[in-house]
Amino acid sequence: MGRTVGIDIGTTTSCIAVLEDSRAIVMHTESGDRTIPSLVSWNEDGEVAVGRDSRREWFSNFDATVFGVKQLLGRKASDPYVQELARQWPYAVVAATNGDAWIDVAGARRSPNEIAAHLLANIKRVAEHYLDDTVVEAVVAVPASFDDVQRQAITDACAIAGLTLRALLDEPTAAALAYGVHRQHDQRIAVLDLGGGTLDVSIVWIEHGASKVLATRSDPSLGGDAFDRAIVGMLADDFMAEHGVDLRRVTGQDPRPVPTPVWLQQQLKACAERAKIQLSSATMANVTMPFIVNVEQGPLHLERELDRGQLEHACKALLDRLESPCLAALVAARCTPSDLDHVLLVGGMARMPAIQERAAAVFGRPVRTGANSDHTGGNPDEIVALGAAVHSGILRG
Ligand code: ADP
Ligand code: MG
Repeated sequence: MGRTVGIDIGTTTSCIAVLEDSRAIVMHTESGDRTIPSLVSWNEDGEVAVGRDSRREWFSNFDATVFGVKQLLGRKASDPYVQELARQWPYAVVAATNGDAWIDVAGARRSPNEIAAHLLANIKRVAEHYLDDTVVEAVVAVPASFDDVQRQAITDACAIAGLTLRALLDEPTAAALAYGVHRQHDQRIAVLDLGGGTLDVSIVWIEHGASKVLATRSDPSLGGDAFDRAIVGMLADDFMAEHGVDLRRVTGQDPRPVPTPVWLQQQLKACAERAKIQLSSATMANVTMPFIVNVEQGPLHLERELDRGQLEHACKALLDRLESPCLAALVAARCTPSDLDHVLLVGGMARMPAIQERAAAVFGRPVRTGANSDHTGGNPDEIVALGAAVHSGILRG
């Protein structure tokens, strides 16, 4: 008969869950990963690699590795938001004949729907391997802010991937379901979802299984990537002060081989992200990139310690941007913080202590990040997938 799974197809990370004996659980990949990078790449022979396999090729096959495709789904190439993304991205965004935003991947034009379908087909494979059963149906969570065109794009991608879509579920509603809030009476919940690319703040009303997103407000360029870039900026500033070399402008004029600027930028960003993640649990992290650049006197190394205070200082302007979408969502939902029953923090960035502190300060109350929910084991980047699995159970009755 086949199983129904709950899918969170994220900008940077995806996650899949299933109901087992009326408990939602996260399915892991063959290599034991509970989340899957939302990456697709094509090698020289045109073979496709997805997820962790694609990440392994990231540096060697940089030009043909695509990330962030969720942000392009259902959008036009002329959309100012798309153009802003294109300025930051290493690959070109091109206009399809109908004006849709497509990506030029090493000379081949690919549609976001096709790329998303590769992600979903891989998710289907992971789920089938985990369950040792066929998976035909899915509940897929999408941002509450997705319009009809974006929802249709996800629907099309599911069809290409061989998945029948049981339902599209708003991500904040999924988060609320994972906490089992739907069984309670007349609950108003704020959901802050800070992922890799965006911040979405939603006010959700829930009552005995019924739910409604009362309002949602976003900052479409405030996500983990922006934090990573801020950290890179600080590392580059300090490196410049110490060595007089600007890591953002390595020109390659040196006679010895130097890394290409794009490659170097990505290495730096990956390094910054590792430090950021470490500093969510530790108070000090080591940042090391030996032989980062060659100068006349010889190779230079990036080698330093970074503490949590320095991280928060580098990210202060970004942390300040949390407040305004929260207040705007409250106003749009005609709520005050005291009307709220819960504030839920989801998305990978919810693990950063400064984010938790800021969110608690904005709403004037404690926030929940995954612990003490019905289903989550305290992992804020798994909550949406778990909620989608819960919803599949509600649909089955
Ligand atoms: P999305 O839904 O946008 O795909 P996620 O919710 O999975 O993304 O969040 C991904 C972001 O969370 C990335 O920027 C990643 O660096 C960040 N992240 C993951 N784990 C941590 C952590 N422990 N501390 C801080 N940031 C983290
Ligand atoms: Mg997400």
